[in-house]
Amino acid sequence: GLAGYLVPAARDLPSNASYLAHLAVSDGDDTLVRLASNENTEPPSPRVRAALERAYLDANLSPPPVPPLRRALAGRYGVEPDQVLVTAGSTEVIDATLRTFVRAGDEVVIPRPSWPVCHRRLQALEARIVEVPLDSDDESWRYDADRMLAAITPATKLVVVCTPNNPTGNAMSLDGVRRIADTGIPFLVDAAYADFDLNIDLTGLAHEYDNVVLTRTFSKAYSLAGLRIGYAVGNAETLDYVDRFLVPGSSVSSASLRAGLAALEDDAYHDHQVDRIVGERERLLPALRALGLRTWASKCNFVSVDASGFDGGAEGLAGAILTHGVVVRPLHDLVRISIGRGEENDALLAAVAAVVGRG
Ligand code: PMP
Repeated sequence: GLAGYLVPAARDLPSNASYLAHLAVSDGDDTLVRLASNENTEPPSPRVRAALERAYLDANLSPPPVPPLRRALAGRYGVEPDQVLVTAGSTEVIDATLRTFVRAGDEVVIPRPSWPVCHRRLQALEARIVEVPLDSDDESWRYDADRMLAAITPATKLVVVCTPNNPTGNAMSLDGVRRIADTGIPFLVDAAYADFDLNIDLTGLAHEYDNVVLTRTFSKAYSLAGLRIGYAVGNAETLDYVDRFLVPGSSVSSASLRAGLAALEDDAYHDHQVDRIVGERERLLPALRALGLRTWASKCNFVSVDASGFDGGAEGLAGAILTHGVVVRPLHDLVRISIGRGEENDALLAAVAAVVGRG
């Protein structure tokens, strides 16, 4: 049969359906509060609606080769348009970056725990994945750049850092990021949650290093997860290599490009969303602690709680919360809770209270 022809990863990887199963929970049930995917549960800027209406008028045409969104992002970073790649979510350009530098057997240094999708893509490439564990204390998780540096060998083909990190919520210091960049080894900085980390400016990395690929997304603060818009910023020559692993002709629809531009231009709306989410996050953390859960500081649009003391671990705790109508995400020994609107977060607190017997 076919099995003998498959590459090893095709046999060995769990299916996407099993990976995504937790998100399909009671699909279509509008009564559930969904806090499992780090989306913004508020709608995008009203300007996006107008942009999508305009997009109807040129839906028959292919997207422009150098989209205005690309120019606008370049302007934001003070770089040339060839230093920006706009893709179908940052997932697409992250995947292309992995394929630009990594093939079967190649060594990649990456933290643990971190975003499981990146790990899965590396498994698909049959990379040798060197995981560097993150530490935590009572306050927060810690990213130790020295530990990452110590894990690098002459065989390392790529270093990946997600900062601030999913699911631990902590960020690497700019100094730590720079010291890894200084090695000259290809370095993917996944900054999907940088909108919520108000104290760090990664913009300069794209100017200074030819080995750094910085990726960001419109899926979080901008409320555009469904339209699939992300981008990479970096050195023009490096991004030209990465671009070779994208399907030519642009993966991003003209409607998404228009919507992204409209969202980008509405700074007031973006900043309001970030303030709202950060405010709710800071309300949720002490409330979860008051219910007896262990949790950590977060620089993202989610918080994670320690599930190791619960029956069935993270799956058990997430399942118990689901019975009270709230979908959250088990990851490693953690349950990750996205920050929703006030009433959604209240529903989460009520569900947790019921689970821990304080409801
Ligand atoms: N990186 C991290 C760490 C993420 O958590 C996510 C979204 N879950 C992404 C990248 C990709 O998001 P998108 O493809 O929607 O831009």
